[in-house]
Amino acid sequence: MARFQLRRLRRRKLLATPPPSTWLPILETTLPMIGEMSGEHKRQLFGKMQVFLSEKNFEGCGGQEITEEIKVTIAAQACMLLLGRETSIYPKLKTILVYPHTYQGGQKGMFGGDNGESARLGESWECGVVVLSWNSVKGGARNFEDGHNVTFHEFAHQLDQEDGAADGAPILEERSAYATWAHVFNHEYKALVKLTRRGKKDTMDRYGATNPAEFFAVATETFFEKPRQLKSKHPELYEELQYYYKIDPVDWAEQ
Ligand SMILES: [Zn+2]
Repeated sequence: MARFQLRRLRRRKLLATPPPSTWLPILETTLPMIGEMSGEHKRQLFGKMQVFLSEKNFEGCGGQEITEEIKVTIAAQACMLLLGRETSIYPKLKTILVYPHTYQGGQKGMFGGDNGESARLGESWECGVVVLSWNSVKGGARNFEDGHNVTFHEFAHQLDQEDGAADGAPILEERSAYATWAHVFNHEYKALVKLTRRGKKDTMDRYGATNPAEFFAVATETFFEKPRQLKSKHPELYEELQYYYKIDPVDWAEQ
């Protein structure tokens, strides 16, 4: 049997494997919003996490030990971006490096210095590596309403990079959807750049005005963590993100 067929069979089995009894109690502590998710979304999430955790490699850096809590908390947030759609699970990603705190970037990453100058919260490299600080991951998961979530941010970069270009446009389901996506994202990105230059604030963090790739990553954080504000202030952008992510974070329980 060809290798890809074996992998597909293995994935199908993993997707249907019930989660270990430890996962939900861990997530109820580290990612309290799990309590708002419908049973169907939780089932999907745990299945995707099974694949993610069996295929991706975690490495501790700067003295960080890799625990089940770390793996489950990162995998859950990474897989929240994949809910509701048939998708391969971060096909280019091989390794997640985890530092205990914000760290000094030695190697210039693709998105070096995300949300900071030399002290970094996270990075996403095109060579299949995501770098995260556990402290920032924990903070982002616990506070699900401030619009900041470093795990969503870095994994949104991974989604953006799947087509080989870090340009703020991930792979869309239909070819016909790219024109509207480009129109809405260009318009919204330029508006954020203009607002930021004038020193004004928006629902989205000003870091999104850095470039189109950062705009998509920041828009993703805002979509999941401040859905009501984003929907009311930027309805077209919200609609595009809802089309892509196939969920409506305004009401988790109803889905
Ligand atoms: Zn970034």
